[in-house]
Amino acid sequence: MADSETEATEAPTMSFDKIVKKEIPSTVVYEDDKVLAFRDIAPQAPTHILIIPKVKDGLSGLSKAEERHVEILGYLLYIAKLVAKQEGLVDGFRIVINDGDDAGQSVYHLHVHLLGGRQMNWPPG
Ligand code: AMP
Repeated sequence: MADSETEATEAPTMSFDKIVKKEIPSTVVYEDDKVLAFRDIAPQAPTHILIIPKVKDGLSGLSKAEERHVEILGYLLYIAKLVAKQEGLVDGFRIVINDGDDAGQSVYHLHVHLLGGRQMNWPPG
């Protein structure tokens, strides 16, 4: 479902729709009918993967979540776990969802960052 009114107030940015449609290339590591997981173009860790819903349905960010999104939100985390295992992240991994300007969100299509392959710091920057 489009949410152009909301998006009009958000930072101008590409969405991940073109990646979903394969109009711009990405390195896909997992795909099914609901989600796509692909390597981040500017990795912040040896393993850095983005997991997104294929259908945005208003989820420009987590703060836009509504009750109808509960299933896909849980599914994204489940797939993150599967991909972490697939990537061999047996010593741990970090999940990040940036929301809004203060968090440094730059793409307004909900995405889960899966980071691993190095020791993570806390607190995050
Ligand atoms: P965020 O800052 O949380 O919105 O994360 C957006 C992420 O998307 C950043 O880590 C970018 O490096 C990544 N990114 C932007 N464009 C692409 C692309 N075409 N392919 C893969 N990752 C991308």
